[in-house]
Amino acid sequence: MLRGDGKLNLDIAVSDSDKAPQDQCGVFGVWAPGEEVAKLTFFGLYSLQHRGQESAGIATSDGKKILVYKDMGLVSQVFSESALESLVGHIAVGHNRYSTTGASHWRNAQPTLGRTSAGTIALAHNGNLTNTADLLDMLKERYPDQGTNEITGGNTTDTAVLTALMAGDLDHTLEATALELLPKVKGAFCLVFMDEHTLYAARDPQGVRPLVLGRLERGWVVASETAALDIVGASFVREVEPGELIAIDENGLRSTRFAEVKRAGCVFEYVYLARPDTSINGKNVYDARVEMGRTLAREYPVEADLVIPTPESGTPAAIGYSQESGIPFGHGLVKNAYVGRTFIQPSQTIRQRGIRLKLNPLKEVIQGKRIIVIDDSIVRGNTQRALVQMLREAGAAEIHVRISSPPITWPCFYGIDFATRAELIATGIGVDDVRQSIGADSLGYLTKDGMVAATGQQERELCTACFTGKYPIELPMADRLGKNLLEKGVASIPGESVHLHD
Ligand code: 5GP
Ligand code: MG
Repeated sequence: MLRGDGKLNLDIAVSDSDKAPQDQCGVFGVWAPGEEVAKLTFFGLYSLQHRGQESAGIATSDGKKILVYKDMGLVSQVFSESALESLVGHIAVGHNRYSTTGASHWRNAQPTLGRTSAGTIALAHNGNLTNTADLLDMLKERYPDQGTNEITGGNTTDTAVLTALMAGDLDHTLEATALELLPKVKGAFCLVFMDEHTLYAARDPQGVRPLVLGRLERGWVVASETAALDIVGASFVREVEPGELIAIDENGLRSTRFAEVKRAGCVFEYVYLARPDTSINGKNVYDARVEMGRTLAREYPVEADLVIPTPESGTPAAIGYSQESGIPFGHGLVKNAYVGRTFIQPSQTIRQRGIRLKLNPLKEVIQGKRIIVIDDSIVRGNTQRALVQMLREAGAAEIHVRISSPPITWPCFYGIDFATRAELIATGIGVDDVRQSIGADSLGYLTKDGMVAATGQQERELCTACFTGKYPIELPMADRLGKNLLEKGVASIPGESVHLHD
């Protein structure tokens, strides 16, 4: 088995409360005899980098053995040409991680491995499970004498629990175990996994996170976003359906339904998370964002000279706002393309400068103008507070902030690590208090109805919990939920100690 050098990632020394809001994982899988599957997976993960920047990993199978290579860092940092060449085979699964259960360190990187009756399972997960504690109880009960797995080895993720359960049943095939187990798994999950012979993909009955199926000339691809299919030259076939398990091997593709569809797709994928060149459930994300901007212009018009985006994620909505209002669109902020999406600010004092490292105002454009600044969302308020101050220093006459989603007031338990309620700036205060806190002359948020309409989806088929507090998947009691659940000792396995995160 190959492994990375386990470099320590300094980011983990930074406490959670200092972090920017985070993205969530990206998954990719390929079954393609005759293709360089590790390279295809590398490029697939590369195109999904925005979904997670903490760690990256690829596992391959040549029909006899599974190899895995994973490490902390970006896809381009983790894999070298020689690492990819050593990952031989015709099946691969890959993962970009952003942590939602379990801390950010090497042991928690994916794909996770388990020993099955027939060989090995390698599994990658995007989402966040809500019954991890129950699944852990099930694991202890069903397989009390189970030998080493990644949990006993110190992995503290919901994914490792799932992998151990998938692997544990030595009397059944992986496919049979998956079909028995998946109806018992609650929360958001897009799984891409394999054993030596078969590639599998499964999606929770709500279809919270996106997952699509694509066709190569000589094989199949599954990926978090349609953009990844484009980038590896696969054609879009269809979505992996909510509640569906797909298996792909030399006999072709088999589909089994393990649960009824109860669609509740994450609306925030359209607002911010997904790439603009991705389509989710038939709706292109860029189009949805432009439409959000147009609606915002109708809902919160203001007289001004220039509409500027907060790059890059605010750009499509700013284009829509400009088109609808007739106010010219321009770039008033220059983004350093080499600063990652989750730039870490070490302390409150340096935080303002941190944002300046990322975005710098174009004084020549801003000076003397009434500016409308568009962003996709406000979470803690740090970005807009810093921007308003910078734009004033750059000589803006007025600053009107327009946000192409409603106030975020509830945490996400399905795969986005938003701040706690207390840290979300809009919790418990009105829009004018938020306006005052960020220092803008005016502030307008897109209404929920405006946002939902722009996605082209039915509201009852979306999850809007971060805006409304209506959680479509039942949540357990607080002590059986949370990012560090498996680090708090709830998780101790008899006879083995679970590593406590330092
Ligand atoms: P704030 O500065 O208010 O805490 O966060 C808002 C900014 O973070 C916006 O510019 C928005 O584009 C971005 N953002 C919103 N959600 C996420 C997320 O889940 N992950 C990351 N990295 N940024 C986010
Ligand atoms: Mg942004």
